[in-house]
Amino acid sequence: MESLRVLELYSGIGGMHYALKESGISAQVVAAVDINTTANKIYRHNFPDTPVWNKTIEGIPLDDFNKLSFDMIMMSPPCQPFTRLGLQGDVADPRCKSFLFILDLLPRLCKLPTYILLENVKGFESSSARDYLTKTLSGCGYTYQEIMISPTNVGVPNSRLRYFLVAKMSAENSSIQTSAKGCSFSHVMDSEFPERSSVLRSKCQNTDRPSEDNPNVHVLYKRETQMDSQKKTDQNKNLSVQQIQDYLEPQMNIDMGLYLLKPKTLLRYGSILDIVQPHSRRSVCFTKGYGRYVEGTGSVLQCCMENEISSVFTNLDQLTEEEKLQKMLKLSLRYFTPREVANLMGFPQSFSFPEDISIIQQYRVLGNSLNVVVVSRLLQLMTSEHFGHSEGEEQFSVLENEYLCS
Ligand code: SAH
Repeated sequence: MESLRVLELYSGIGGMHYALKESGISAQVVAAVDINTTANKIYRHNFPDTPVWNKTIEGIPLDDFNKLSFDMIMMSPPCQPFTRLGLQGDVADPRCKSFLFILDLLPRLCKLPTYILLENVKGFESSSARDYLTKTLSGCGYTYQEIMISPTNVGVPNSRLRYFLVAKMSAENSSIQTSAKGCSFSHVMDSEFPERSSVLRSKCQNTDRPSEDNPNVHVLYKRETQMDSQKKTDQNKNLSVQQIQDYLEPQMNIDMGLYLLKPKTLLRYGSILDIVQPHSRRSVCFTKGYGRYVEGTGSVLQCCMENEISSVFTNLDQLTEEEKLQKMLKLSLRYFTPREVANLMGFPQSFSFPEDISIIQQYRVLGNSLNVVVVSRLLQLMTSEHFGHSEGEEQFSVLENEYLCS
């Protein structure tokens, strides 16, 4: 394959660029566009040869895009997952403006790109932004596939369930760009929700996990239900997923003073922490608030294994604050370092931060980024000869066996 010219929109710290490199596809990023100056600084630090456009996408004239003459778009638009059942405001959200601009621009390009890869949060699949996207793609003659996938599906012990769409210009349309043909295959690669069917079902399906709101679910310790606890146990038994320890920095390299959880945090949030151990095969999604907020922002690591989590947390409520603290301190709980978060997100060792980027900023930009391993597999799938030729189940098996689960 000739070297592809790739346009990276909403490029952040370049997760897509790393995935492209990892995929082995012969390609060059001809422009990376983002308005976040911190992210752009990190991008330039790691990819000094790539032109980074510090611009709002909707402010870029059609002609400038035409001049790039790109064959592929990779993008992670910041459209919020407002489902139809929710606020119904998805495309009305100002943050969606640039994405609508791209959809409007696409059919007007002198040369349509052969490939498009889009990443978004779970929830996008039931947004009207997604409907605009698929209609536009069909109208332009693309074949596309929508996939829900998490790093755990490719053996990485970190949950980050995301929506992806990969599209390819249908062979018969690659020269005649105005004819409209598109077909859609939907698939869920979702070991995190194994109870669901493998095919992306109704758009409004309730995907909520069983929660403590259900009065029939007995809460064990740490405000965790039997079901939550069982799910974690099952995840830790899944030998197709690697262990957390494979992603850790050598302990002696870590300034524990920076990463150990503070007493105040332990006392206030101890019972809602998601705690993992070096031999665990799971961790929860790291979000941009990691290190600043505790609830739902990512797992913390137990460094001292001499005490069991259950023995520390059982009946903790009955102790004085000081006793509680002493018990929790025995676990030596710490945050994952930004390097470790980057490892879990598939960033190569060559990735680094400029010196003046604070730890909090590092967590913030990593939390906005994506899993490089997952995206590289999707890029391989999208550019494979098979993609867009077979239909239905056959398409699924290509996806599962060759590209994603190897
Ligand atoms: N994939 C990226 C992160 C995407 S997060 C990575 O690997 O890091 C979404 C990004 O879109 C953010 O960095 C944000 O700054 C950028 N963004 C949001 N609206 C934008 C706009 N209108 N024009 C350009 N960039 C925008």
